Amino acid sequence: MIHYAEEELKSKIGNTFSPDIFDVIIVGGGLAGLTAAILLSKNDKKILLLEKKEYPFHKVCGEYISNEILPFLQSIGFDPFFYDAAKISKLRISTPAGKNIYAGLDLGGFGLSRFVLDTALYELAKKNGADILTKTKVTDIHLRNDHFEVETKDGMKHRAKLVIGSYGKRDVLDKKLHRHFVQTHTGYMGIKYHVKLNYPVDEVGLDNFENGYCGIVKIEDDKYNLCYLYKRNLKVQFKNPHELEENVLFKNPVIKNIFSQANFISEEPEAINEISFAPKKLIEEHILMCGDSAGLITPLCGNGMSMAIHAAKLLSENILESGILEKKIISIENRKQLEEEYKHAWKKHFSNRLFWGRTIQSFFGNPTLTGFALNSIHALRPLESFLIRKTHGQVV
Ligand SMILES: Cc1cc2nc3c(=O)[nH]c(=O)nc-3n(C[C@H](O)[C@H](O)[C@H](O)COP(=O)(O)OP(=O)(O)OC[C@H]3O[C@@H](n4cnc5c(N)ncnc54)[C@H](O)[C@@H]3O)c2cc1C
Repeated sequence: MIHYAEEELKSKIGNTFSPDIFDVIIVGGGLAGLTAAILLSKNDKKILLLEKKEYPFHKVCGEYISNEILPFLQSIGFDPFFYDAAKISKLRISTPAGKNIYAGLDLGGFGLSRFVLDTALYELAKKNGADILTKTKVTDIHLRNDHFEVETKDGMKHRAKLVIGSYGKRDVLDKKLHRHFVQTHTGYMGIKYHVKLNYPVDEVGLDNFENGYCGIVKIEDDKYNLCYLYKRNLKVQFKNPHELEENVLFKNPVIKNIFSQANFISEEPEAINEISFAPKKLIEEHILMCGDSAGLITPLCGNGMSMAIHAAKLLSENILESGILEKKIISIENRKQLEEEYKHAWKKHFSNRLFWGRTIQSFFGNPTLTGFALNSIHALRPLESFLIRKTHGQVV
C-alpha cells in the first residue's frame, strides 16, 4: 500500500477524482475521527481523513478528560503525561450563589489542551499510515452503487467503500442530510479561554450561574482552561462575551473572583453557537456517525471526549470484525448488518449516559433549583455517586 505526503496526495488527485478508492473516508479529524484513523490504518486499511482546519488549532472544550479512556490512549501510543497533562482527582462545584461543595473523583481524569491532544493524535494517525488532507472541507457525501463519493469545497471527489461522519456537533453536512436537530435553534453557546491563575492543580471546578456553568481546570505548562456553556435568554441580548460575563456570570462571586485573578493568555475567546444535546441518528444514508456527530453528552458530565474516543474504538472494531472491507462488492445487506452491529454496541455503551446527562443538565440554569439540587444531591452521598456512575463508563 502506498501512502502519500499531504502535498503529494493533493497533486496526484488531478482534476476531479482522487486516484484511489479508499477503504474508509473519515470526515472530520477531531478525537473520534483521529482515533478511527489510528485504529483502522494500524490494521492496514487504506484510510483518508479529511479535516477542514490545519493542525494545531484551538477548540471550544473544557479540556478535562476522564481517566476511563487513559489505558486505551496509552495502549495506542499516546501518553498525556508526556505532554505535561495535569492529574485531576478532586471536584469542586459552586451553586449560583457561590457556595462551594467539594467531592473526590473516584476515577479522576487529566487536563490537556485540544491544541496539544488533537495534534499528537494527528501525528500518530499519520505515523500509522493514514492519508490526511487538512484545510479540506467536505461539502457533500453520496452513496453511488457500491461506493461513496465525498466532495470537498475545492471541487475534488474522493471515493471509498465506507464513510465515517466524525465532523462534530453541527455542520452544513447535517443540513444536507436533513438531520432533524439542525432545524431547531438551541440557544446554547460555548466560550473558552486559556489563562494563568493561582488555582489548585489537581481540582476541576464547576461553577454554576443563571442559564449556565463554567469550568476551570489545569492543563499543560502553567496554563488553565476556563470554559463556559450558556443558554441564551432571548429577552436579554449581550453585545459580546465580556458583557455577558459582567452581567450574568459574575453574579456568582466564585466566578467573579476567578475572572478577576486570571491572567488571560488571549483576550478574545474561542466561541461556538447552537450546540444541540438532542438525540441524533447514528446512521444517516449509510454514513456511520461517530463522536459528537452521533450524539453529544452535556459538558457538565466531563466525558464527551472519552465517549468520542470510545465510540471510534467500537466502530473501528465493528468494521474490522465484519470483514466488509474484504468484499469485492458491498451490498446494501452487508452495510445494514454492520450498521445494526454498530447500533447495538453504541446503544449498550452510551444511550443511558446521554439520557442521564440531559436529565442532570435540566436541573441546572435556574439559580434556586440548581442550588437546591446541588445541596440535596451532595447531602445524599449515595445519590451523588449514583449520578456520577450513570454518566460515566467503565475503564476502556
Ligand atoms: C462548552 C463545551 C465544553 C466541553 N467540555 C468538555 C470537557 O471538559 N471534557 C470532555 O470530555 N468533553 C467536553 N466537551 C465535549 C467534547 O468537546 C466533545 O464531545 C468532543 O470534542 C467530541 O469529539 P469529536 O471528534 O466528535 O468532534 P470534534 O472534536 O468537534 O471534531 C470534529 C472535527 O471535524 C472537523 N469538521 C467539521 N466539519 C467538517 C467538514 N465539513 N469537513 C471536514 N472537517 C470538518 C472540525 O474542524 C473538527 O476538527 C465539551 C463540549 C462543549 C460544547
